[in-house]
Amino acid sequence: MREHALFNMSSGPVQGSARTLRALSQQILYHHDPEFAEIFDACTGKLQRFFKTSGDVIIMQGEALLGLEAAAFCTIEPGDKCLNLVSGIYGHLYAWYIEAFGGQIVEVRTDYNKAIDPADVEKAFAENPDIKIMAVVHSETPSGTVNPIEELCPIAKKYGAITIVDAVSSIGGTEVNVDDWGVDICCIGPQKCLASSPGLAPVAVSEDAWEKMRNKSKPVRYSYMSMLDFKEQWLCEKEKRSFPYTMFTNEVVALDDTLDQVFEEGLENMIARHKAAARMARAGVKGMGLSLWADSEEICGPCATAVKAPDGVDEVKLRRHLYDTYRITISGGFRDLKGKLFRLGHMGPTANPAYVAMQLAMVEKSLHDMGYPVKLGSGVGAALEAI
Ligand SMILES: *Cc1c(COP(=O)(O)O)cnc(C)c1O
Repeated sequence: MREHALFNMSSGPVQGSARTLRALSQQILYHHDPEFAEIFDACTGKLQRFFKTSGDVIIMQGEALLGLEAAAFCTIEPGDKCLNLVSGIYGHLYAWYIEAFGGQIVEVRTDYNKAIDPADVEKAFAENPDIKIMAVVHSETPSGTVNPIEELCPIAKKYGAITIVDAVSSIGGTEVNVDDWGVDICCIGPQKCLASSPGLAPVAVSEDAWEKMRNKSKPVRYSYMSMLDFKEQWLCEKEKRSFPYTMFTNEVVALDDTLDQVFEEGLENMIARHKAAARMARAGVKGMGLSLWADSEEICGPCATAVKAPDGVDEVKLRRHLYDTYRITISGGFRDLKGKLFRLGHMGPTANPAYVAMQLAMVEKSLHDMGYPVKLGSGVGAALEAI
């Protein structure tokens, strides 16, 4: 076997529980067998609870980005005005999809260490009441910040727009209420707070979103990215239904078991555990004299804590040292943020005080090894005081 990190505290995919690993290693099922349909239905029902929706949930077979790209493809009519909210890298990248499928972009942008201000969104809609779609990222994983979806989506709904939310790294770590908040298309992945394997793209789809998809001049059908195919071929009468393509059966079995683990722990408890780990990580960062990337602690996310790279420290070398010497994986700055920050991960089983303490201790030790003036124990001590 290949040597891998003993502790994967990256920004995802993250290490799974022993039970999730066992679920992943079960016999491969035939997707047309009734036994698999039963598991798939059960998994879908659990996802509805997880999303807090009584609407439809589909499970697309691919990484989370498939759901996000498909959401744009299936809903955007060429020429549609689409409001794209950008407070980080995933928000910035969403413009690619909007453009690719012919949308006309209206952008509200803020610095990558801040969150979107609802007043700016209200203003954008007041100036462009014909906006048809709004896309927003809930938790901007690369910069460790969150946007106030609970305030942003109701503004869009007031103006009759369809809302597309990237909740990939927020769900399970903080509240996500699809129905109450007016989220029309909510895209997630199992590889962040759920800590399952990354091969699925569960998507919650509202009635308004289905209508928008059906009303396109050329509705997207017979495509791997078609959400309507799933609706019309699978979410129809039970006697007539069949999957639009082969399901990733092992991934579904694992996701289903992972969702059982969520509800055994209690979704609220799981969220509280992630928030506590994030609070502890922030206390540790400040305790060792480093600075949080985010402008204010209120907008710091539950899944990863972004830390400004200290002056004179190459964050790539710091992470390499952590990996080579202590076999810990953490994430760095991604794209525009390269070299500017590193991220402490706390998702899934590692959203736990022991993992956070160990991570802080070894970051301190690594900085110390690299000659950076940090008092050993200062960060981990502050973190322990905070719990
Ligand atoms: C992880 C993640 C995704 C999934 O996409 P990858 O870049 O392939 O990991 C999408 N959006 C957000 C906010 C994520 O954190």
